[in-house]
Amino acid sequence: MTHLVDKYPVFGQQFIAGVWCNGRDSAVLQVNNPFDGSLLSEIVQADSKDLDEAYQKAAEAQKKWAATSPAERAAVLHRVVQIFDQRREEIIDWLIRESGSTRIKAQIEWGAARGITLESASFPARVHGKILPSNIPGKENRVYREPLGVVGVISPWNFPLHLSQRSVAPALALGNAVVIKPASDTPVTGGLLLARIYEEAGLPAGLLSVLVGSGAKIGDAFVEHEVPKFISFTGSTPVGLNIGRLASSGKHLKHVALELGGNSPFVVLADADLEQAVNAAVMGKFLHQGQICMAINRIIVEEGLYDAFVARYAQRVSALKVGNPHDADTVIGPIINAKQLRGLVAKISRAKEEGARFVVEGQLVGQLLPPHVFADVTPDMEIAREEIFGPLVGIQRARDEIHALELANDSKYGLSSAVFTSSMERGVRFARQIKAGMTHINDIPVNDEAHVPFGGEKNSGLGRFNGEWAIEEFTTDHWISVQHCPRHYPF
Ligand code: NAD
Repeated sequence: MTHLVDKYPVFGQQFIAGVWCNGRDSAVLQVNNPFDGSLLSEIVQADSKDLDEAYQKAAEAQKKWAATSPAERAAVLHRVVQIFDQRREEIIDWLIRESGSTRIKAQIEWGAARGITLESASFPARVHGKILPSNIPGKENRVYREPLGVVGVISPWNFPLHLSQRSVAPALALGNAVVIKPASDTPVTGGLLLARIYEEAGLPAGLLSVLVGSGAKIGDAFVEHEVPKFISFTGSTPVGLNIGRLASSGKHLKHVALELGGNSPFVVLADADLEQAVNAAVMGKFLHQGQICMAINRIIVEEGLYDAFVARYAQRVSALKVGNPHDADTVIGPIINAKQLRGLVAKISRAKEEGARFVVEGQLVGQLLPPHVFADVTPDMEIAREEIFGPLVGIQRARDEIHALELANDSKYGLSSAVFTSSMERGVRFARQIKAGMTHINDIPVNDEAHVPFGGEKNSGLGRFNGEWAIEEFTTDHWISVQHCPRHYPF
């Protein structure tokens, strides 16, 4: 089905309490294309009064929305899916221009955001309560699942559309209202584009607001405001830890979902299929220039396959095309901004200083950083300890399976992970000992399916997204007991 639709107008305003308007702050945010630096939009930033207006209107609109029928809420989500299909190219184009996505990554992100929308359309009819027995004569225990109220969503710039939508769609489907604070690099794909889509899909005014403002200026107020009962944050571990602290400060207690940084190990055991493992390590590291929380951060190869792996990997990585993200065959596009790029260049220098052996390197051109691969990396080196979030990776040598597991678990993060082996039972045994929320056998660590639980352990976060886990996250239990006959009290 293809319909001709006019493109959405330029995104130069905020969407606050159902109205497109300028923010009240004095600062203007310039949004630039990370590949060529061209100006994409200018937005007057939101301040704390805008924030208050968005939250108050959301609280008012949510009461009516929670009382609508499941079919009515599902219908809005189905219309959103339809608009995703009709505007596929427009959405993908925005992802390429604003977040520096390669075409391949933009298509994957469009698919993931569409997938969680479709999954969420089933939630209104899937959410259910329970009737439990009672030890008290004549009593019936009912457990109702209710919406939380207003949900605050904070998203990062790397998969902005999907990482906002994976909270927005379930939250709305389950009868909540939402206020989004997208990242400053991606206000359109992280929020304003979704606002247009939901508006076009007929979502009642006020249920979704998008506030474009700096995290440093309105971040604390966004979390601490009395209205939101749940903060769904995706971003770095330091900012997430602060949000967790604010949400449970002396003033209030809020539900939080924290989806934070990662340091995914990719383990290749000596009985693995070399070619398949190398292919996976290329894709799992370099999709979106490595700017993915689940991206491979450490490659750990067992002794017997180490030299062959390093040689073949270097050969494959050296052939990856770096360039204009619009070109269908580009694999490595631009780094999102100058600050991130500086951090990556510093990591390359430190890897050199710390004694890592370069097997692939290249010249920086503008925001384009070609892949860098280091061999003979040890677990104490910065490139192994820290989240990289760019097209660099270190390879570590493991003496045997036990040592490989020790290296894999030697991290304060625990988001995703992968292990390659030709024995499935060995793979499952190994996978179950990895301390992480997600482990993939004979595949990349970058996986996300709308009906399967997504989330991390250790410093990678709290909570799970997708499927029935999202139904749990975006609702709360209310125990209502019914005493059918008079109860006898001891006094
Ligand atoms: P970030 O933590 O710098 O920013 C994330 C969001 O938080 C942005 O919207 C930012 O404006 C906002 N923010 C910043 N300071 C704030 C404050 N004081 N109060 C409230 N909000 C504030 O992260 P980033 O650089 O945008 O994204 C990269 C990080 O996100 C990486 O660490 C990556 O691993 C992580 N990430 C995690 C997942 C996951 O699902 N676990 C997914 C994608 C990215």
